[in-house]
Amino acid sequence: MLQWEHGGIAIFQSVLYRTASAVAETEDLILISDPCWLPHEVENIRRYVLDKAGGRPIYLLFTHSDFDHIIGCGAFPEAHVVASNALAGKAEAEREQILEQIRTFDDDYYVTRDYPVVYPEVDIIVREDGQQLQVGGTTLTFYHAQGHNDDGIFTIIEPLGVWLAGDYLSDIEFPYIYHSSTLYEETLHKVRSILDRHPISVLVPGHGQCTEDMEEILGRQVKDLQYILDLRSAAASGDEETIAGLIKDCPFPRNMRKFHYNNRLLIERELNIARPAT
Ligand SMILES: [Zn+2]
Repeated sequence: MLQWEHGGIAIFQSVLYRTASAVAETEDLILISDPCWLPHEVENIRRYVLDKAGGRPIYLLFTHSDFDHIIGCGAFPEAHVVASNALAGKAEAEREQILEQIRTFDDDYYVTRDYPVVYPEVDIIVREDGQQLQVGGTTLTFYHAQGHNDDGIFTIIEPLGVWLAGDYLSDIEFPYIYHSSTLYEETLHKVRSILDRHPISVLVPGHGQCTEDMEEILGRQVKDLQYILDLRSAAASGDEETIAGLIKDCPFPRNMRKFHYNNRLLIERELNIARPAT
């Protein structure tokens, strides 16, 4: 499952939803993002990290709180946990809901884990857009990335030039909008300024393939913005053919249709479009 290893960054891709867990290594630290999904996959990442760490501190970063991204949290008790203020501040009931999704997944597939299923206790809280964490010669810069859900962050690791994008800028998923389509657009509008401000060598999305190609990153941004615009206008006019056509080439239609439909419902709510009673 080690998919890619280059210049201090290793990417592990789960067999489930092509979810990416990254391990970034500098002279000053080892940082893991979103270790997931299956027990042997998490164990594999843990072994890799412990092999590499030496005396360096271990950081565990969560791009956002969706259950598939925090599922491996309990496997790294020694790590300094990094996440947004919104993730850190989730109410008990919301935390419990997320944990319940993990337990349901594990029950559905008879999965047992040799580590506890826990919600992240955040040590380093990202509050400001552009906030930085300096560890020796390593700089982490964070940007709020909301829209997919309400607690996402982008993280840039320098000098590696790694951009951990969470559930944005995927090559296989169109925007999955659980929270707000306008905030999603705002997040996508940060792409250009991030590329201007930081020398990026690789973008790691939460699902799908990483890319070292800046044109590819901009291409994903344009495509995702276009999807939201098109879905909004087609939802406003009730244009079923256009709505269906927006995902006609998606790679996993039986599943992805559901996310597309939920996007449509969310946008209809944002536009105050009444749905006929069913
Ligand atoms: Zn995800």
